[in-house]
Amino acid sequence: MSRSSKINKDLLQAPKGMRDFHGDIFYKKQGFFEKAQEIAEYYGFSGIELPVLEHEEIFTKGVGDNTDIVEKEIYTLKTKGGSKLALRPEGTAGIMRSYIEHGMGSLPQPIFLYYGGPFFRHERPQKGRYRQFYQFGLEIIGSENAVLDAIIIQTGYQILMETGTEISIKINTLGDSEVRKEYLKKLKLFYKKNKGRISTKDLERLEKNPLRVLDSKEPETIIVNEDAPTIIDTLNPTSKKHFKAVLEYLDAAHIPYEIDHTLVRGLDYYTHTVFEYVTYNSNGEESFALGGGGRYDELANFMGHSKRVPAVGLGLGVDRILEISKEEVFNPKIRKKPKFFFIQLGYEAKAKAFNIIEIMRKKKYPLKHSLSKNNLSKQLGIAETLSIPYALIFGQKEAIDGTVIVRDMKTRKQDTVKIVDLADHLKKLK
Ligand code: AMP
Repeated sequence: MSRSSKINKDLLQAPKGMRDFHGDIFYKKQGFFEKAQEIAEYYGFSGIELPVLEHEEIFTKGVGDNTDIVEKEIYTLKTKGGSKLALRPEGTAGIMRSYIEHGMGSLPQPIFLYYGGPFFRHERPQKGRYRQFYQFGLEIIGSENAVLDAIIIQTGYQILMETGTEISIKINTLGDSEVRKEYLKKLKLFYKKNKGRISTKDLERLEKNPLRVLDSKEPETIIVNEDAPTIIDTLNPTSKKHFKAVLEYLDAAHIPYEIDHTLVRGLDYYTHTVFEYVTYNSNGEESFALGGGGRYDELANFMGHSKRVPAVGLGLGVDRILEISKEEVFNPKIRKKPKFFFIQLGYEAKAKAFNIIEIMRKKKYPLKHSLSKNNLSKQLGIAETLSIPYALIFGQKEAIDGTVIVRDMKTRKQDTVKIVDLADHLKKLK
């Protein structure tokens, strides 16, 4: 291949709306996933990892053809073999596919699952909105018990509480499929009567999915929506009972929530409970969502499965969580504050340096080093800048004698210790 044509400079950057995680944010993200997994495991969830690509129909049938995600935002591709695949825009439909594929329905129910990773939506990039973004998700599949809705909300809430930010929960019910049908009829009638007062964009949405009009951000529609019929008046006894039970569980657990009848969450598969976690910007005015979820008792049927598989779940937006949380809250376990700095001087010492590093690693002593440096004061300087309490000095003489000098960086007291005794000696240090 000829190398004469160079890559255009504009292409030497990540695609629009996508970003690299390097430096502290890499570790912060990893620390978040560790913490989220720890809490999820505690509440009885087990991990699952799915491919980033799924057959496109998983989303068109599962999430719904007329949703924003499928209509405008999904990345699709045709493979060389002719299959139509999609980069996952959300997690739930893939999890249900996996549940069906692996016959998880024949295991004791319900199944508690958590997952995390990248998701893709072709949205207009703006602050806090990416085309490749990260979510941590929870799903409980195989039961309609209302306590499970509460477990999902509680687990997500506790994960978000780790950010140290004030979080509030908005909650609503969409009722079961019977209620939903009835409500959609009422809603359509209401908007037809108010046709002249809603935006043209919403008029188009009305035909396909009236719930999206209820969720509209268009100023004129927002005014009309104030008088829109609420689903509460349409609820049947089963739906009322379910919602009441969820709220009672939340009350008992002292989880703060606010009922918001305009919350619909835009995807076709939701039934009964829907909720969103919101926080506020620094001047406390504008709220934005950190995650959300709900019950999706009919998703499996939408996807062509013969059995009804009741389920509930959530997705948390990791990018936004990282943005609002303080620097120090998410520290992954592999990132330990170094207690020792290893200093080597001369060829002999450099050659044997790995032996010392391995002794330290096997004993899990947090160590930093800078093997490419040759000069004592430079290496001591690094230890000082990083406020590392002890330096291990390994010079020409020590390398020949089989010893290491252990220096207390504060008092400057030094001990010469045999390499064979090093691990035991260090154990005694504070
Ligand atoms: P959703 O299920 O679409 O409400 O997404 C759940 C959460 O994921 C949202 O509350 C956001 O915090 C986050 N999220 C969704 N889309 C994006 C995006 N394009 N960029 C960053 N975060 C996103």
